[in-house]
Amino acid sequence: MKFFEKVLIANRGEIAIRVMRACRELGVETVAIYSDADTNALHVKYADEAFHVGEAPPSKSYLNIDRILEVAKKSGAEAVHPGYGFLAENYRFAHRCLEDGITFIGPSWKTIEMMGSKIGSKKTMRDVGVPVVPGTEGGVRNVDEARKISGEIGYPVLVKASAGGGGIGMQVVEDESGLEEAINAGMRIAGSAFGDSTVFIEKYLVKPRHIEFQILADEHGHTVHLFERECSIQRRHQKLVEESPCSIMTEELRERMSASAIAVAKASDYTNAGTVEFLYCDGNYYFMEMNTRLQVEHTITELVTGIDIVKQQLAIAAGEPIPFGQEGISIRGHAIECRINAEDPLNNFAADPGKIVRYRSPGGPGVRLDSGIHVGYAIPTNYDSMISKLCTYGYNRMEAIERMRRAIYEYVIIGVKTTLPLHHAIMHNKQFVEGNTHTGFLLEEHIARTLNRYVREEETRIQTLGASLRQGKEVAAISAAVNVYLHHKKNA
Ligand code: ADP
Repeated sequence: MKFFEKVLIANRGEIAIRVMRACRELGVETVAIYSDADTNALHVKYADEAFHVGEAPPSKSYLNIDRILEVAKKSGAEAVHPGYGFLAENYRFAHRCLEDGITFIGPSWKTIEMMGSKIGSKKTMRDVGVPVVPGTEGGVRNVDEARKISGEIGYPVLVKASAGGGGIGMQVVEDESGLEEAINAGMRIAGSAFGDSTVFIEKYLVKPRHIEFQILADEHGHTVHLFERECSIQRRHQKLVEESPCSIMTEELRERMSASAIAVAKASDYTNAGTVEFLYCDGNYYFMEMNTRLQVEHTITELVTGIDIVKQQLAIAAGEPIPFGQEGISIRGHAIECRINAEDPLNNFAADPGKIVRYRSPGGPGVRLDSGIHVGYAIPTNYDSMISKLCTYGYNRMEAIERMRRAIYEYVIIGVKTTLPLHHAIMHNKQFVEGNTHTGFLLEEHIARTLNRYVREEETRIQTLGASLRQGKEVAAISAAVNVYLHHKKNA
């Protein structure tokens, strides 16, 4: 079944292509949109039709609701898939789609609005008995109140933006002396980034794990979960490596957490695909937020469950019931995703946009690569620095890790600095291999030291590879890569 004749994808890069791939398999026609910065982008070429929507800055193009809806109507698209980022969690956009008779592939605008407020959603979840991180019940009204509550819950505390996302506006406060400044800064940052300066305070959990559940809910009252993902390897509170299942998950814990995740979805009248995020610490878990969209890391869930989440999104949006019950969904093997960002891991992850001069993608057993790049592609400065997602699947966690190490060696991106060498280091890190991770993993001192060494080693390898490739010595380059790989295996 096709579900729709034609779908507009209101996004760019790898996720636009990911959605178009599902559409192509279903026989659904696709409409791409693009900005001045993306005239040569892969997603534009992949689509059946493509429309220019404006200048490079997102506010002029990928966030330009009027223009995007104009294109949807002109092209005859019946539905819009927002991907992630940009308009994906913008309830006004979902509402405008509804008004214009275009199906928004996601939950209702009301659910998006409710979940868009971290304060509001925490309150709802507390009311239905889902555990939440201790903290203020509403926004912080003044510093005195903040001082009182922080004293009660105990330092360290975290100042968070209610409308926040991407870790923006989040600050850890170690003791009372830093509180006032953090609140003022948090309000300022939140106001300019989200147009809502409300901040709140939460207990800062020490060394928690980030564990989230993938949810699917249809319009006929069926809600299921597609198991969990662990996303504890982060930089600046943003995910870098994700895996499924979580390495410390037990049947008993999964039972409890998935029941809470489904309760969260039910309490918000959720429909379509969504993710319920929890922090896990010392045997307890706490609801953090629900992301009302497709997540970057949905790929690993697809690998371990065999379910195409994007196709399910289209089916649900078309009013179809979910074709399986909870007992029909199982998890098999282990999958890992590494986010490949064009940034310098040795320079505080500073973005490193530029032109890709050499490119070779990995392949073979258990490898999935979702990317929007190619040789000669100039990475624009206007958008997120993530350029591809490298995923591996294995019979068990160790095989998924081994395959990731191998795939990283095969992956050649020359022209911009990337997080590839950092992933190489993480995949060889003893603590990671043992599954002993937490959200501060990359900040730990001894790990930082090893990472530095690995990053430099890997950069040398990439330079050697680049030199061979420039001289046209493809075979020499491949054998150089294999030799380094064997060397590492011997010393592992
Ligand atoms: P955002 O929506 O800005 O991405 P989240 O609320 O999803 O923010 O949190 C992102 C990350 O920040 C979490 O995965 C975790 O690493 C960290 N974090 C958030 N809240 C807490 C907390 N109360 N204690 C410790 N770490 C936290």
